[in-house]
Amino acid sequence: MSGPLLVVSAHAGDFVWRAGGAIAVAVKRGDPVTVLCLSFGERGESASAWRAGRSLDEIKALRRDEAIRAAKTLGAEIEFCDAGDYPLRETDQLTDQIVRVVRRIRPAVMLTHALADPYNPDHPAAARMALNARVYAQAAGYDAPGEPLGAPPVFCFEPHQPEMCGFMPQVLLDITEVFDMKRQAMECLAAQRHMCRTLAWPITPWPRRSCACTRR
Ligand SMILES: [Zn+2]
Repeated sequence: MSGPLLVVSAHAGDFVWRAGGAIAVAVKRGDPVTVLCLSFGERGESASAWRAGRSLDEIKALRRDEAIRAAKTLGAEIEFCDAGDYPLRETDQLTDQIVRVVRRIRPAVMLTHALADPYNPDHPAAARMALNARVYAQAAGYDAPGEPLGAPPVFCFEPHQPEMCGFMPQVLLDITEVFDMKRQAMECLAAQRHMCRTLAWPITPWPRRSCACTRR
């Protein structure tokens, strides 16, 4: 599938860990990619910054900075909603913001979180809003700028603990060619450096060179 790609990310780092390879593959193919970060992950996914004594505002700023650098490394545009995390609240207002982005970007494909994650309720909340926004954006009577569009296919990226989320991969995307780009983007996320360790970096050879997705 070719055309604009929209990635809806609950927190500032999710799009890198979960979809960095898919984003880089799309960019390499020549497709424009936009990442929409609903929150900065400032409360739930910035433990090292809290331990370093940073304030909430400082953490939001540094997470924003990291995400901008990671997106640039992957070749994607990035936008932020600053909707707050832990909890990321599902609201009509935030869903409407996503609708407006969908109408503007007119994605050929959307990527977001899986619909179940017992360890991180923000992730399925983001997925539900993204799926709803995709449907609302196609309604002629929905009051938002831009023309209604056909609902694009949505692929859900692999959660951190897939076996606990009932995640059944349906699509495997080969990211071998762009793997260095993903690794460079991961290295931009200093506040989540433990994730690099979790994913076995810098041990080589890198054990995972594919992105798993399930289609909604
Ligand atoms: Zn997250």
